[in-house]
Amino acid sequence: MKKIYAPWRKEYITDTVHKPKDNRPKTEANCVFCQQLKDNVDEKYFIIKRYNHAFVIMNRYPYNGGHLMILPIEHKGELDACTVDERAEMMELINTCITILKQELKPQGFNVGINTGRAGGGGIPSHLHIHVLPRWDSDTNFMPLLCETKPISIELKTTYLQLKKAFDKYS
Ligand SMILES: [Zn+2]
Repeated sequence: MKKIYAPWRKEYITDTVHKPKDNRPKTEANCVFCQQLKDNVDEKYFIIKRYNHAFVIMNRYPYNGGHLMILPIEHKGELDACTVDERAEMMELINTCITILKQELKPQGFNVGINTGRAGGGGIPSHLHIHVLPRWDSDTNFMPLLCETKPISIELKTTYLQLKKAFDKYS
C-alpha cells in the first residue's frame, strides 16, 4: 500500500491505537458531536454553520477534500426519530452544501449518504450524520475510498475558512 502524507489523520490513528475501545452506548452525555456543539468553539471542531435544527461540520478525517457532514442539533440517531422540520432542514442543507462546494471547489460529482446504526457502518452510530462528499474525475475511485488511502490535496483549515465564508454569505 502506498504511503500518503495526511498529517491530520495522525491524531485519529493515535487515538484509535492507544485508547481502549469505548463500547458504551453513545448517549448525548458521551457523544462527541454533542460535546463539540456545547463547547462553542466552532472553528476548533470545524463546525461551519449552525441552523435552527441542524448544523454543517467538516469531516476531520475526510475521504476527500471538502467532505462535509450535516447533523441534527438534537442527539438523534435515525431519520425516523427526527421531526419533519429537522428532516426538511437537513434536506435543504444537502442542497446548500452541494451548491457551495460546486462554487468553491469545482468538483465534478458528489456522493451523498447516510450510514445508520453500527451495522450500517456509521462511525458514531447514535448521532445521525449525512455525508456530502465532493468527487473529482481525477479521484482514483471507489476502492481507495474504502481503504482510506486516498491522497488529500486540499488542506483542512484553509478549506474550512473558505467554506465558512461562503456559507455565511449564502444564507
Ligand atoms: Zn450527539
